[in-house]
Amino acid sequence: MPPSSLLPSHVTLGILGGGQLGRMSAMAAARLGIEVIIYCPEIDCPASYVAKETITAAYDDEAALRDFSEKTNVISYEFENIPIKTVEYLEKLKPGSVLPERTLLDVSQDRLKEKSFLNGLNIETVRWKEVKTIEDIEQACHEWGSKSFVIKTTRFGYDGKGQVKGNSENILEDQDLEAFLNAAKDQALIMEEFSAFDYEISVIAARDKHGKTEFYGPMLNEHKNHILHKTTVPCGSSEAVIKKSREIAERIANAVNLAGVLTVEFFVCNSDTVLVNEIAPRTHNSGHWSIDACCVSQFENHVRCVCGLNVGSPGRHSDSGMLNLIGSDIKEIDGYLTQENACIHLYGKKDIKDGRKMGHITTLTKMT
Ligand code: AMP
Repeated sequence: MPPSSLLPSHVTLGILGGGQLGRMSAMAAARLGIEVIIYCPEIDCPASYVAKETITAAYDDEAALRDFSEKTNVISYEFENIPIKTVEYLEKLKPGSVLPERTLLDVSQDRLKEKSFLNGLNIETVRWKEVKTIEDIEQACHEWGSKSFVIKTTRFGYDGKGQVKGNSENILEDQDLEAFLNAAKDQALIMEEFSAFDYEISVIAARDKHGKTEFYGPMLNEHKNHILHKTTVPCGSSEAVIKKSREIAERIANAVNLAGVLTVEFFVCNSDTVLVNEIAPRTHNSGHWSIDACCVSQFENHVRCVCGLNVGSPGRHSDSGMLNLIGSDIKEIDGYLTQENACIHLYGKKDIKDGRKMGHITTLTKMT
């Protein structure tokens, strides 16, 4: 962490990863006078257009990582699949300056570690089990007395990738399940009970070096093809759900002595039971509305907290609906350009691909 005597304008923040989260973080940093250097293996990444400098190199290129470390005071990351070895190497070069601290990254990269970590903090999740074979799956169904389940790879799954749904009544005839197990033969797998949740929410916690924590949400999240489609704030949950979800996010933030932002995704079941689905050691798609509806966005608070500045108030001045532009949705942009109260964010991605997040629209309405 930079010495607290440094003015923000004397801080250079390094960000590992150059996607839209890095891009919006760099834009928030610029507002505070903080310069950003992006480190990303891909050329022309979305964040590169708004940063002072981009180092284009592989995550195991030690010379490039040394250069990155020498040019920056603090290093953070914008997505959770940064190799742990990269983070360890940078930590050795600059102890205490890679934030949020590694435990959170390590836990969120592996669904088995993540579930054990959460349950160890007395935080409820769906029932789960490590599985390898069809017999393991059958046995879990028997033990749990439940029918529907999801099998997921433990690593590198996102937006519904690396998972398959199944049912205890036709395990042996299920060709999708068989194909999934064959394809994932060498990978660790987790089986989760399928949650017949009422709806999904998320909470974003921002915690600074003094341990002060602020929250965005909970937000109501709706998915299409496993990808976040729409986020609504306020979420319409009961006070009990709001309180429980924030309390859980705070418990996780304190457990890892968070400096930065983390996101917790929940299933809300039976009206007011909250089960954690997963955690992300970073800003989140469900918090994009905060750029337009709050004085201090999730991105600014992330930058503030990793750079040793005080966390800001996430209070909002408007209610919001955030709609993702996925793949060819971006072709509808003309309509949004003339829509009242629509705040448009495009990520500068040149190629349209199925399932690719191209931008988002936040619509502001009067607070209820
Ligand atoms: P994940 O990548 O684990 O966040 O899963 C993506 C989405 O799949 C979630 O947001 C849920 O909509 C759905 N999903 C994942 N796991 C489960 C589960 N155990 N029960 C019901 N739905 C699930």
